[in-house]
Amino acid sequence: MDSLRELYQEVILDHGKNPRNFNTPDDPTNKALGNNPLCGDQLTVYLKVNSGVVEDVAFIGRGCAISIASASMMTEFIKGKSEDEIKQIFNKFHEMCTEDASDKSTIEELEKLQVLSGVREFPTRVKCATLPWHTLLAALAGEKEVTTE
Ligand code: ZN
Repeated sequence: MDSLRELYQEVILDHGKNPRNFNTPDDPTNKALGNNPLCGDQLTVYLKVNSGVVEDVAFIGRGCAISIASASMMTEFIKGKSEDEIKQIFNKFHEMCTEDASDKSTIEELEKLQVLSGVREFPTRVKCATLPWHTLLAALAGEKEVTTE
């Protein structure tokens, strides 16, 4: 295990233990519940969308360290971004989590989210890492619930 990977693990553990934006906002415009029955992860993502821009985002739920850390980092990353930008980020994030030969320049744009690229080696963990994103997209689309199964 190299030091870079150890650093990545530290970041995931930190976000898993102390998730950012972990709360229920008063008046969300959009919300969706995401289920990953394979692992038992269950998250609700809340959004405040204004003119196609996500002005605020928060989540609550329970799950493994990967799903909570991924949700926490996602909320930090997407705040202030437009729906179109978020869809592009999701595509890149999904590619990073599932494809071995991911384009390096693609991954660099994901900045801190790169710490989750390690899930590629653990196919069952891919659903944990992508659950918050599927839930986010469902909320943006006005769907109430989404499952990875
Ligand atoms: Zn999980």
